[in-house]
Amino acid sequence: MDLKEKIRNIKDFPEKGVIFRDITTLIKDPDAFEYVTDALAKHVEKEDIDAIVVLDARGFLFGAPVAYLLKKRIVPVRKKGKLPAETYQVEYQLEYGTGQLEMHKDAIQKGMRVAVFDDLLATGGTAKAACELVELAGAQIVSLNFVIELTELGGREALSGYQVYSLVQY
Ligand code: IMP
Repeated sequence: MDLKEKIRNIKDFPEKGVIFRDITTLIKDPDAFEYVTDALAKHVEKEDIDAIVVLDARGFLFGAPVAYLLKKRIVPVRKKGKLPAETYQVEYQLEYGTGQLEMHKDAIQKGMRVAVFDDLLATGGTAKAACELVELAGAQIVSLNFVIELTELGGREALSGYQVYSLVQY
C-alpha cells in the first residue's frame, strides 16, 4: 500500500515553512489502519518483547492495537502532569524551550524488553527522552517504531545505538 497517498500534507502548520504530516487521514481509512498496524506488529513480533511503550498522544493510536494483537502490556509515556501515580521524569528539548515526559515507576520492571511506538520521528528528541525513562526503570529498549520518519531531521542519527524502524520516509 502506498502510505503517502493516505497521509495528508498540511503546509505551514503549526507554523510557516513547515509541512505537517497528518495521520488522521490514514486512521480514518480502516484498510490503511489495518495495514499499518499489521506491518508494525509483524516487525516487533519477532523481538520477544515484554512491553509496548506508547508516546503521548499519537503514539497511543498505533502502539495500542499492536499491543492488543501481540497480547503485550501497554505503558503510556505522557507529558508532564497527566499521570496520577509516582513517576520517573525526563526533560527534553522542544523547538522553543524544554518539555517533560513521565512514566509510572511501576509500569515496567528491571530487565524487561521494550518496544517504543510513536507516529513520527523528526529530530528524535521525544523518542530519546522515552528511552531514558525506560532505562531509568532498568529495562532495555529493543526497538523504536514509527509510522513516519522525516529523514532530513537526523532522528536516526540522534538515536544511534538503538534499532529504529519506520514504515514511510520523507
Ligand atoms: P521529535 O522529538 O523532533 O522527533 O518530534 C517527534 C514528535 O513530534 C512526535 O511525537 C510527533 O507526534 C510530533 N511531530 C513532529 N512533526 C510532526 C508532523 O509533521 N506530523 C505529526 N507529528 C509530528
